[in-house]
Amino acid sequence: MAKSLVVVESPAKAKTINKFLGKNFIVKASLGHIRDLPEKRLGVNIKDGFKPHYVTIKGKEKVIRELRKAAQSADKVYLAADPDREGEAICWHIKQALGKLGKPIYRITFNEITGKAIREALKNPGDINLNLVNAQQARRVLDRLVGYQISPILWRNVRKGLSAGRVQSVALRLVCEREEERERFQSQEYWVITAKLVGESGEPFTARLVAIGDRKAEIEGKGFLMDEKEAKAIAEKLKGLTFQVESVKRQTRRQKPPPPFITSRLQQEANRRFRFPARKTMTIAQQLYEGVELGGEGPVGLITYIRTDSTRVADEAIAAVRKVIRESYGSQYLPSKPNVYKSKKGAQDAHEAIRPTYMDRPPDSIKAHLSLDQYRLYNIIWRRFVASQMKPATLQLTTLDISADGHRLRANGSVILFDGFLRAYRGEGSDEEKETLPPLKEGERLELLEVKPEQFFTQPPPRYTEATLIKELEDKGIGRPSTYATIISTLLDRGYVIKEKGYLAPTEIGIMVSRLLIKSFPEIMNVGFTADMEDKLDRIEDGKVDWVEVLREFYSGFRKYLETAPDKIHEAKKEMEEETDEICERCGRKMVIKWGKYGRFLACSGYPECTNAKPIKEEEIVTDQVCDLCGSPMIIKTGRYGRFLSCSNYPKCKNTKPIGTGVKCPKCGGELVERRSKRGKTFYGCSNYPECDYAVWNKPVNKGCPKCGFPFLLERRSKGKAHLACPNEGCDYVEG
Ligand SMILES: [Zn+2]
Ligand SMILES: [Zn+2]
Ligand SMILES: [Zn+2]
Ligand SMILES: [Zn+2]
Repeated sequence: MAKSLVVVESPAKAKTINKFLGKNFIVKASLGHIRDLPEKRLGVNIKDGFKPHYVTIKGKEKVIRELRKAAQSADKVYLAADPDREGEAICWHIKQALGKLGKPIYRITFNEITGKAIREALKNPGDINLNLVNAQQARRVLDRLVGYQISPILWRNVRKGLSAGRVQSVALRLVCEREEERERFQSQEYWVITAKLVGESGEPFTARLVAIGDRKAEIEGKGFLMDEKEAKAIAEKLKGLTFQVESVKRQTRRQKPPPPFITSRLQQEANRRFRFPARKTMTIAQQLYEGVELGGEGPVGLITYIRTDSTRVADEAIAAVRKVIRESYGSQYLPSKPNVYKSKKGAQDAHEAIRPTYMDRPPDSIKAHLSLDQYRLYNIIWRRFVASQMKPATLQLTTLDISADGHRLRANGSVILFDGFLRAYRGEGSDEEKETLPPLKEGERLELLEVKPEQFFTQPPPRYTEATLIKELEDKGIGRPSTYATIISTLLDRGYVIKEKGYLAPTEIGIMVSRLLIKSFPEIMNVGFTADMEDKLDRIEDGKVDWVEVLREFYSGFRKYLETAPDKIHEAKKEMEEETDEICERCGRKMVIKWGKYGRFLACSGYPECTNAKPIKEEEIVTDQVCDLCGSPMIIKTGRYGRFLSCSNYPKCKNTKPIGTGVKCPKCGGELVERRSKRGKTFYGCSNYPECDYAVWNKPVNKGCPKCGFPFLLERRSKGKAHLACPNEGCDYVEG
C-alpha cells in the first residue's frame, strides 16, 4: 500500500511528528521556505498588479526534487507547516513546486505537536487558506518595495551599504527619540529624608518625610528639590520634634493573576528575568515547541505554537491545569470557574496562548533532559499558565500618616493575606515586596531613633531594553508575534543600535538614518501609518480586503516620496548642521559640524568656496593603563558623553571603558568612574549604573578617613587650593 507524505518545515518537527504517525506515513522537512523573491532584483512587477516573481531559493533545488519524488510515490500529500501566515505561504509554495500530481494535496494545521492534535488534524484535512498566503505575500512585497527602493537613495546620498526597512525604521525612530529626550533632560538634585521611628510595640520602622508645612515633596511624593544645606537643616530640626501617629488606613486589595503568555509577553519576561534577547527566546521556544529528546521516548513537543497574540486556552488544557492546581496547591487555590482572558482586539483566536502541552510533565520532572535555558523558559511558561488559572492574591495595604509640628511623614506596609496565584508565579511590579509595619494605632506617640537625609538626582527616562521596546511596539500596534524579534535583531545587525548593559542605544549612523528618513519618507517613519498597515495585513488575512488593492494604495503615496527623497535628504542634512566656535584656518569663517558618510565631521561653513574639512578633534591623552584585551596603552578621549578610556590600538581593538578612580562604591562595591551630567558637569558615579545610582560631585581619592574610617575622601577646591574632606555625614575631617 502506498504511504502518505507529510511535509513540515523543520527536521526536528519531522522527527517529533514521525513518532505519532506509524508506518503508513513518511515525513519530510522543507527546511523553511523553498521559494522567495530573487536576491538581486526587485522581483515585483509593479505595473502588472505587483505580481511577485518567485525563484527557487539557492540550495533548495535538491529539497524540491526529493519532495517531488516522495510525493509521486505517495497516495496523498499533507502539508503541515506551522499554523500562521508564514507557514501557510511555505505550504503554498511547496504545492506550486510539486505541480500537478493527480492526487490530493491537503493542508493540515495543529497548535501543538502531540499525538492527539495530529490525529485530529488528519481527520479534518483542508485546503490552503489563500487569505493567509496573500497576507504573507503583501507583507513580503511591501517590505521588498520599501527596502529595495529606499536603500539605493541612501547609498547615493549618504553612504553605501545603508538600508531602510518597513517597521524596523519606525522602531529605530522610537529608540532615537528616547535618546533625544534623555539628552534634553535636565537632572535636578533632590533629597529624600527618612526617619526611623519606634512606637509602643518596640519594633522600629521607617517613614519618609512627605510634606513640610504646605510644601509637598515634589519628586514622586517623596523627594524634595533642595540642596545639602537645606536637607541637613531639616533633618536637624526633625530631631527636636515630637512624632505622633495621625492616621492608620488599611485596605484590602485583590491582585489578579496574569494571563498565560503570548509571544510578546514571553519575550518581555524572558528578557527581564534572564536578559534573553528576543531572538534567543524564540530559538529556545522553537525547540520546546518542535520537540525535545526526553530520554528513551523520543522527542516531545512540550509547548504550544509560539507565535501567537491570543490568550485563548483549549478546554482540555483548562481541565488539565485545574487538576494540577488542585493536586499540587490545594483546592483553596482553585477558583470555582476557570479564569477567562480577553485577547486584544484583532488577535488571531484560531491560535492559543503559549502553554505546556502535557500537564503531567512539570518542569522539575524533566529538568535533567533540558538545557539550562530550555528549563528556564519552560519553567516560566509552566508557572505562568498554572498561575493564570489560580485564585487572585489578597493583600492588606497600610498607609500610616505621622505628624510632627507641621511636618508629615508616611510609611507604607503591605501584608499578604492570601497568596493565591503568587504561589506559582511572581511577575513584575508585584506589590507584595514592600515592608511590613508593626501594629500602630491613631494618636500613638513615637520616638525618633534616627533621621537620614539622602541625596539623589532625577533620572532621564531610561533607554529601552528589548523588553520595553517590544512592549512599546505592541502598545502602538506595530509588529506582530512573528516579527518582534526580527525587528530588534535587524537594528542591531545593521549597527543602527547597540546594546549597552542590556539597554538599546542608537549609534551616530542610526540617528542620522532616522532623521533623514523622517524628512524624506514621513509615512514610513510614522507610527500611526505603520500600525495602520499592520492592521491592513490582518484584514487581508481575514479576507476583508484585497491584497493587491492594499499594495496599490500604498505605492501611489510611496512613489511620490521616492521622487522627492533626494532633495529632502539634502535639506535634512543641512538642518542637522551644528555651529561651533572653531575658526577655519584657511579662510577665517566658522566651522560647522556636518553629517557625512561616517558620522559627524567638521567642515568650513564657506563650502563650496572653501573645502576645508576635518574630523572632530578628540582630545587624546595617553595614560599608564593598558588595554585588558590587547595590552596597548589606553588613551583618554572625549566623546558625546564626556571623557572615557579607549584603546590606542583603535580601530583594530575597540575596547573602551569609563575613567576609573580606583575608589570602590560604598553602596555596592563597584568602582566610582568619571561621568558627565546632562549639563556638562563632571561627576563620579558607580560603574554599576543604572543598577546602582551612587554618585558624588567631587573627585573621590583612594585614602581612608583617619578620623572615622570612611573608605575614601573627596577632593574639594576653595580659593584655588585643593584639600581632602571626609564625605561621611557627621565627620568633619579635612586635610591639606
Ligand atoms: Zn574655510
Ligand atoms: Zn586594546
Ligand atoms: Zn555602586
Ligand atoms: Zn571621616
